Amino acid sequence: MRISGKSYIDGMGIREVCVEFDRVIRDVRSQCIPDLKLRDDELLLPGSIDLHVHVRGLKLSYKEDVSTATSEAVYGGVTLIGDMPNTDPYLNTVEAVTQKLREMERSRTDFVVYAGVGRETERIDRLPIAGYKVFPEDLEKPELKDVVSSSKLKILHPEIPLSLHGDRSMRMEWQELAAVRMIHGRFHVTHCTTNFTVELSKTMGFTTDLTPHHLLLEERDCLTKVNPPIRNLEIRRSLWNSLWTADAMVSDHAPHAYHEKRSHQDLCPPGIAGVSFTTPFIYSLVFSGAMELSRGVHLLSTGPARILNLSMGRIAENYVANFTVVRKENWRYSTSFSKVTQTPFDGYPLLARVSQTIVEGKVAFDGDEVYPVRGVNAVV
Ligand SMILES: [Zn+2]
Repeated sequence: MRISGKSYIDGMGIREVCVEFDRVIRDVRSQCIPDLKLRDDELLLPGSIDLHVHVRGLKLSYKEDVSTATSEAVYGGVTLIGDMPNTDPYLNTVEAVTQKLREMERSRTDFVVYAGVGRETERIDRLPIAGYKVFPEDLEKPELKDVVSSSKLKILHPEIPLSLHGDRSMRMEWQELAAVRMIHGRFHVTHCTTNFTVELSKTMGFTTDLTPHHLLLEERDCLTKVNPPIRNLEIRRSLWNSLWTADAMVSDHAPHAYHEKRSHQDLCPPGIAGVSFTTPFIYSLVFSGAMELSRGVHLLSTGPARILNLSMGRIAENYVANFTVVRKENWRYSTSFSKVTQTPFDGYPLLARVSQTIVEGKVAFDGDEVYPVRGVNAVV
């Protein structure tokens, strides 16, 4: 297939090109007779990668399943998701990880799976997983040492539990420091809520990511309850500086059933479901002139591809043919394919809209419908 139009080419900026591809990009040249010509207001971009998604599935499929989560992802321009292990059963046994990998074969995006901390790490490490997610409570477990000695990626939740939210305190800083220093090797700090965490991680050689909700929202009800919690206005304002230094943007898509989110704020489960929000949000910053296109592409594609060590995130020969097409459009956000129909981003005004998503060389979303494209495990 050949697509022609305006495209972001690494190191060259926006170029009018023709991209020829099957499952991988075969050629990028200046002219051709295309199968598809993009509109003048559209941009062909490297496919977005979301390192941090809770697909749920297995016994939590009533909240979200592989097909609804990944349909929502392609609607939001996401071509690869990283699935977190805290489902039911927990992904810290060979059996559960194997079951999950099989379930993910229904994914409409490419994917990677992370395992949790447990007693079977040595055997789990031989399975095609991308790495491990270390939750705060895992820091106390003796089994953590096996995860630390794995050469795979370790993703750390660096901040204190939800019960201690509020103003940033000395205690929080110490806990962040202690948490970050526990782990060595390929190490990534996810959903940083403070500029301090991002800076501290960088000085230690760790990569970092941010979520849109920690930048944009205020905690006011169950819909905005999330872990780590949304910080106060001063911390949120300073977190915007991290948009220029962090390595990736993630959604931390964490769906719950309607009845669960309807319960009292003290009792309801934390989590915001916004896998389709991240890409239009970042490219809206680009279209508004607040952010360079190269920075937007880095946060959504090049940066996360580098963290996962994948041949993705660039429009160049031999890279996987995953693309996100965005166009300039004033619209208001809403979910479309997730089991979650209510998010705190609903109605948020955006300037960029995903008009097409291509996964493994096939159209997974055409601006209207999603298609049962088969994504692959990027670790295999
Ligand atoms: Zn999460």
